[in-house]
Amino acid sequence: TNRLEGKRALITAAGQGIGRATAEMFIAEGAEVLATDRDTGLLEGLDCETMRLDVRDDTAVREGVARARPDILFNCAGFVHHGTVLDATDDEWDFAFELNVASMFRTIRAALPGMLERGGGSIINMSSAASSIIGAPDRFVYGTTKAAVIGLTKSVARDYIARGIRCNAICPGTVESPSWHDRVAALGEKLGSHEEALQAFVSRQPMGRVARAEEIAALATYLASDESAFTTGHAHVVDGGWSGQ
Ligand code: NAD
Repeated sequence: TNRLEGKRALITAAGQGIGRATAEMFIAEGAEVLATDRDTGLLEGLDCETMRLDVRDDTAVREGVARARPDILFNCAGFVHHGTVLDATDDEWDFAFELNVASMFRTIRAALPGMLERGGGSIINMSSAASSIIGAPDRFVYGTTKAAVIGLTKSVARDYIARGIRCNAICPGTVESPSWHDRVAALGEKLGSHEEALQAFVSRQPMGRVARAEEIAALATYLASDESAFTTGHAHVVDGGWSGQ
């Protein structure tokens, strides 16, 4: 406890999954958290300030930053499209870049000046193992956007490295979350077997299981805290050995 004492954090997509697990861990470690999501109903039960924030809305992003005055910015919002390059539509491509990448440009642009004024900050961007780390099957649009997140992260880290700002990306393997359960269900419909779909997701994880959201939140907490003070500009992989074989 108290690893984040005295720090203020802004978290996007904190309603469920990794974002929510991270909000809970940040709170438990003593941070003052503003937990945000597009769907406010999902923020219920979190023991911190909450706010409706759609990361595609620049005005809402600026309001959120003004309210949180964050030392820690966790950009967690993202969406997973299914399919290959031949399946992808222009709309899916545009939506994914808007939500998964441009949203981070906007939140960082809004939060960085305050961090610089106060003399430091830690920015954590949600990427994925399915990015420039590994090519995952049927993740063309998604993997492309998550690779872009790594480039964005390195660029921000480089430009502010001497001014107290750190910027890192998190690259998880498969993580149990509400949207993951939806993806398993959708694949199950396609294959005609829920069990087969579950096996397809689990078998690509060499540990024979997917991650719990808390296992990703633990890395976010480390990157948010001063324990990681010498780490910036990196894609931190937490994928149960998926890409490390
Ligand atoms: P999830 O997909 O189950 O939940 C996503 C949350 O984002 C929801 O609370 C939703 O309301 C919110 N959201 C959606 N659009 C939004 C918007 N425009 N503005 C604000 N909030 C919005 O959660 P998850 O599976 O833990 O995924 C969280 C992040 O982690 C995503 O960026 C995802 O790509 C990434 N990720 C997930 C996995 C996985 O296997 N679950 C693996 C690697 C990376």
